[in-house]
Amino acid sequence: MRVLVIEDEPTLAFRLQQVLEAAGFVVDVAYDGEEGCHLGDTEPYDAVVLDLGLPRIDGVTVLQRWREAGRAMPVMILTARGRWSEKMAGFNAGADDYMTKPFEMEEVVYRLRALIRRAAGHSQPELVCGAVRLDTNSGRVTLDGVPIQMTAQEFRILSYFMHHPGRIVSRTELMEHVYDRHFDSDSNVLEVLLGRIRKKVGAELIQTVRGQGYRMVEQRGQ
Ligand code: CA
Repeated sequence: MRVLVIEDEPTLAFRLQQVLEAAGFVVDVAYDGEEGCHLGDTEPYDAVVLDLGLPRIDGVTVLQRWREAGRAMPVMILTARGRWSEKMAGFNAGADDYMTKPFEMEEVVYRLRALIRRAAGHSQPELVCGAVRLDTNSGRVTLDGVPIQMTAQEFRILSYFMHHPGRIVSRTELMEHVYDRHFDSDSNVLEVLLGRIRKKVGAELIQTVRGQGYRMVEQRGQ
């Protein structure tokens, strides 16, 4: 899952990036509202962490522009502005969640996971597809109840499919959601990773749809 952090305070932006990456997200960081707004307009993020007091364009305006343009990604406001009138303005602009500084880093992680899950239509932290289970909070993956060890990259790819079972996911879409904007998309590494994932969770779980991409399908008639 790919997250955009818009935060002008460099130390906090760096900490957020570190914690979110350690939690399994791919993270792009923007340090002002204009760059952040542009990235949200042009890249398909699974969620956004948005500061309000930002250079160039303030966070509420960024959010209003996205929502007016029909952009539906979950947005969590993370700000020092804690007055009720400010929270109301944030929600009225289209925020899905609102946290005030100071805050627990882990709480940001848990809230983001829940927002992303909900946006994909899942109510439970554990995602299930046939015999494969993925706990979005613990990062634990099991096949028939047996724990599967996965690298961070393998986990990100599997997690994206588990959030969107049954839907055809193009190669481009997959790349855009499991790598940051600096990744070289010509790389053949995706096919290699898919091969490794199939070996671990079963070759039938992620099918190749000729000319269109991939699709996760339930195995064993469940
Ligand atoms: Ca700020």
